[in-house]
Amino acid sequence: MTEQQPEILDRVDRIVADHVDTVVDDYERSRTYPLALVQQLCALGLPALVTGRTDLPQPTVLFCRAIERLAAAWLALAESVHLQTLATCALARHGTADLRTELLPGMQEARLIAANCMSEPGAGSDLSLIGTTAERHDDGYRINGVKAWVGHAGVADLLNVYARTGGGGLGGLTCFLVDADAPGVCIQPPEDKMGVRALPTARIVFTDVDVPASRILGRVNRGMIVAHSFFTQGRLGVAACAVGLASAALRYATKHARTRSQFGANLMNFQGVSFMLADMSIKIEASRQLLHRACREVDSGGSQTELLAAQAKVFATDTAMEVTTNAVQVLGARGYTGTEPVERWMREAKLLQIIEGTNQIQRVAIASRL
Ligand SMILES: Cc1cc2nc3c(=O)[nH]c(=O)nc-3n(C[C@H](O)[C@H](O)[C@H](O)COP(=O)(O)OP(=O)(O)OC[C@H]3O[C@@H](n4cnc5c(N)ncnc54)[C@H](O)[C@@H]3O)c2cc1C
Repeated sequence: MTEQQPEILDRVDRIVADHVDTVVDDYERSRTYPLALVQQLCALGLPALVTGRTDLPQPTVLFCRAIERLAAAWLALAESVHLQTLATCALARHGTADLRTELLPGMQEARLIAANCMSEPGAGSDLSLIGTTAERHDDGYRINGVKAWVGHAGVADLLNVYARTGGGGLGGLTCFLVDADAPGVCIQPPEDKMGVRALPTARIVFTDVDVPASRILGRVNRGMIVAHSFFTQGRLGVAACAVGLASAALRYATKHARTRSQFGANLMNFQGVSFMLADMSIKIEASRQLLHRACREVDSGGSQTELLAAQAKVFATDTAMEVTTNAVQVLGARGYTGTEPVERWMREAKLLQIIEGTNQIQRVAIASRL
């Protein structure tokens, strides 16, 4: 650790303490996107840690430690900073020099909010089924199709759109950087989600949307190379969210167990409860260590990054689901009401087992490497 590393984390902690804790419930209830907070956090240099040049050692470890802290306070905020980072990776790693000069600083600091448009109503885990097309037209391409589950839809300025330019399968896809306000882009109303409601997710319909060839990221028919370049980062960020969420739930449940009295003793005195909390702490620490091991592999350019990131994503998100469910159990009836945050955390944990490649798909990827 250098002197600078704790400084960034201190600043994240200060923003959380001063501005986040007081607004979470209101913003989640009213589905208000916390744009100013996302911009404040990105301006600290969080996306730049993994999408730019940095002198800091272990930038991926540092990024994930920051995301963990944010998720312990508010998953929607952590997820938004993470999503912004992923969407920026495509431009940072595959954009032309001109495009990077024009747009990269704005995206890294979230002055330009970005989104990844991969999934479609008929193409989720299996991206080879993507049906959105981009046909050659004059000196550019014309995009038609429907994208589903787009995080940041409605607040994004820029969309990474994966569309079919070649034959079927994964080989015929190209990644385009599309302006969200281009003619023919129609954002649908936000989905009514189980949790993470402050971060909008919606379908986007593309009807004859013209995009110049200069807005292609990577090469024609090689869009999956662009997508692949941030899959590992996606898994790590979600794992970091899971560790943060689970840690918050453990802290809250432990505090309750130490103060709630039944049968003449605090709940903590009953092994049925205290062993549950002990098991939660073991799995959280194991998740954190596996995540940091995977991050160090990325930072040192190791060869096991994809495997370790998939293992960390599965273990940490399954742990978050288990820990938040048990936290509700420790709080009893109170845990089942919206007045306690454990209820929200349990709903939020479910998302982490689905996004950035479901945990079943991660297991398929892990098994294929054994
Ligand atoms: C809140 C939210 C935000 C999202 N944000 C984005 C975004 O910003 N951009 C984007 O492009 N997408 C986004 N997604 C979509 C997400 O990536 C997909 O939901 C995910 O890839 C799974 O696709 P699906 O939902 O169509 O499920 P399906 O692929 O239909 O799978 C359904 C179930 O079958 C299982 N399954 C499928 N295939 C296999 C297999 N071969 N072996 C074993 N099990 C299998 C899955 O694990 C899952 O449990 C988001 C989703 C949500 C809920």
